[in-house]
Amino acid sequence: MEKPDLIIRSSRVVTPETVRPASVHIRNSVIAALGEWDKIPSDVSLFDAGDAVVMPGLVDAHVHVNEPGRTAWEGFTTATRAAAAGGITTLVDMPLNSIPPTTTQTGFAEKLAAANGQCWIDTAFWGGVIPGNTNELKPLLENGVRGFKCFLVHSGVDEFPHVTETNLLEAMPELARLNSVLLVHAELAEPIETATEKLKDKNPNDYQTFLQSRPREAENKAIELMIRLCRETGARVHIVHHSSSDVLPLLKAAREEGLPLTVETCPHYLTFAAEEIPDGATHFKCCPPVRERENREKLWAALADGVIDMIVSDHSPCTPNLKLLETGDFLKAWGGIAALQFSLPVMWTQIEKRGFGLRELTRWMSAAPAKLAGLDKRKGRLEIGYDADIVIWHPEKEFKVVPEIIHFKNKITPYSGMNLHGVVEATFVRGAKVYDKGRFVEKASGTFL
Ligand SMILES: [Zn+2]
Repeated sequence: MEKPDLIIRSSRVVTPETVRPASVHIRNSVIAALGEWDKIPSDVSLFDAGDAVVMPGLVDAHVHVNEPGRTAWEGFTTATRAAAAGGITTLVDMPLNSIPPTTTQTGFAEKLAAANGQCWIDTAFWGGVIPGNTNELKPLLENGVRGFKCFLVHSGVDEFPHVTETNLLEAMPELARLNSVLLVHAELAEPIETATEKLKDKNPNDYQTFLQSRPREAENKAIELMIRLCRETGARVHIVHHSSSDVLPLLKAAREEGLPLTVETCPHYLTFAAEEIPDGATHFKCCPPVRERENREKLWAALADGVIDMIVSDHSPCTPNLKLLETGDFLKAWGGIAALQFSLPVMWTQIEKRGFGLRELTRWMSAAPAKLAGLDKRKGRLEIGYDADIVIWHPEKEFKVVPEIIHFKNKITPYSGMNLHGVVEATFVRGAKVYDKGRFVEKASGTFL
């Protein structure tokens, strides 16, 4: 065998099958071999991680980078550096909140130009389905988007309008033909409008008011619609940031029926509970909302059961003024939670407590999202031939979330002040170290996937 460029070894290397002492041999950016822990050639560069966990880097398939156009909210440099510091080695950028959105070829070209030279990790892109852009889907896919996102309710930004069933009946057969995937923000407008109408006299600073304004029914009806359209059109459907536990049995049945349907949820739905969110704490606002404790427990059961496939951040920051923290008005504040740097420790803190382990962590946060984005031939596993995307971290070490350690642009996060388990030591992308104990390499070397 040819000499590796680098060997990373540890007493805890996570492969799809086991966690064991091993050495990861890297050559030409990919994993060339998984060797014995103690068989290290004498003249090879060695990163000895001791007993730190050596694991595939996380793949975060749901990140709003917002550049170009809303770069004050987040940008590629800050987002990808925060990701690297959090053990994420690939992110997939969402098509909206940037201006222009990634719904046309020219929009995508502008996005790529903006991201160029600014990505510290590997970066891929989702396109968008909006009313009337069916003709753009094929060329967008040919130019490299990994699939398409749509909304069934107002997206929060006017330049990314939501679709109706009529629009979907045009776009989904095209996506089926292209063998692409449709990511769906699954809330319908009508139950939200009806609920909001009844809340006119309620205090908008009260979390309960916001929660009632985004009832489970909005998600439930949207999921029913998407299961039906998935069946009718044959297009692959992926439900983003799922929150309502009511429809987990429906999703389970749809999967047992063999429909091409996958589901993600996010760290905030698995960590927080509506009962515990303080009034006026708009940094907890996201749509669909964080629901009750009992709902959260059912999401965990669905993960264990395989009905929910993966956990992704839905990092969706904004500038502090838009969070309206001074007035605490939940109904008017921007909905979106910023936390991509902390996905790994947030989830590890929960996973550990609930009796799951490192293999579930990599399945939910590396392998499954890689597969969704069509990257599962090269990302998301420590296996021969895969990209040497590796996070080295200490599950037993603790840290506190404080603004000084946050690398994303706007430091407002609901995890502020929390003690989390899991400290990232170093992150490698395709065999090159990009982050090491609080420091980044000087130059961005992430590629577009
Ligand atoms: Zn999102």
